[in-house]
Amino acid sequence: MKRVLVAGGAGLIGSHLSELLLDRDCEVLVIDNFLSSSRDNVLSLVKHPRFTLVEQDVLKPFSQVGDINEIYHLASPASPIFFQSLAEEIAMVNSTATWQLLDLARKNNARFLLASTSEIYGDPLEHPQKETYFGNVNTLGPRAPYDESKRFGETLTYLAATKYGVDARIVRIFNTYGPRMRFDDGRAVVDFIGRALRGESLVIFGDGSQTRSWCYVTDMARGIHKAMTYNIESAFPVNLGNPGELTVLQIAQMIIEMTNSNSTLEFAPLPAGDPVRRRPDITRARNLLGWEPQVPIEEGLAYTISWYREQSGLH
Ligand code: NAD
Repeated sequence: MKRVLVAGGAGLIGSHLSELLLDRDCEVLVIDNFLSSSRDNVLSLVKHPRFTLVEQDVLKPFSQVGDINEIYHLASPASPIFFQSLAEEIAMVNSTATWQLLDLARKNNARFLLASTSEIYGDPLEHPQKETYFGNVNTLGPRAPYDESKRFGETLTYLAATKYGVDARIVRIFNTYGPRMRFDDGRAVVDFIGRALRGESLVIFGDGSQTRSWCYVTDMARGIHKAMTYNIESAFPVNLGNPGELTVLQIAQMIIEMTNSNSTLEFAPLPAGDPVRRRPDITRARNLLGWEPQVPIEEGLAYTISWYREQSGLH
């Protein structure tokens, strides 16, 4: 039986990945300090005999981990609401903790996977983004602690792979949504659902023509698991995301319709550094992993709306 460590396993993606790993008969050890998530996300898992939760900052040394076969490093706040308030924590967990976990992988001869991000492409000048694109990133902007620490995390992963022979995976995750997002996450899907259910205006930044691609969380967990388990070249980055592109305006209109809301649209200035277009080229994921998203946006939104209703009591 594989023993798998999931750093950040109580988060949106980590909790769904942990469920998938338990389904695949793994023993799952989650290390999480709930910096950007809630214990509720893993409440249904803690009773599972093959699941262990260690509440701890992954930056602090941890003992009693035992032998580990695979390490997924998902620990990092992902929502832009934290890019400034948790800037140092984000910078350190994506750099220092990445190196520590790579060291643990090396000592255990374990496979390692880094959850990188589409943010490493910055405000891209190429569209859609392929893994060969180096990005257009501001080292000093408000998103820099996240973007640049993820870029450095990739460099550390590459270093551990090439210098120390760690069998490492890098996935560049694009926008992911679904049940267990924070209500105050700030990203369009969950923000719009909350506002639509409360009958408030949906605030669109800019004119709403900026595009996003939305991948449902179970599709993402499946892609991450494939990237870890398939035989691919070490430290070879793979984009994971939904190549279907929607404008922010389209998503707002869909959510108003699906929630039968009377909400109207309100327009506000675009925040600094907000990328205008984002869409993954997933040719590499299709070819190497045989992966592509399966959950259509209407279905994923329906699941997320129904979960939101259940959790919030709003109807
Ligand atoms: P999330 O905030 O829901 O989960 C991150 C988890 O990491 C949380 O449970 C948090 O408490 C934990 N964590 C943070 N710092 C920690 C620390 N120092 N020690 C222990 N635990 C810590 O975010 P998510 O959406 O599940 O994202 C998971 C990973 O995927 C992150 O690395 C994120 O950067 C990456 N990613 C996510 C998206 C997305 O759209 N959700 C997009 C690109 C990349």
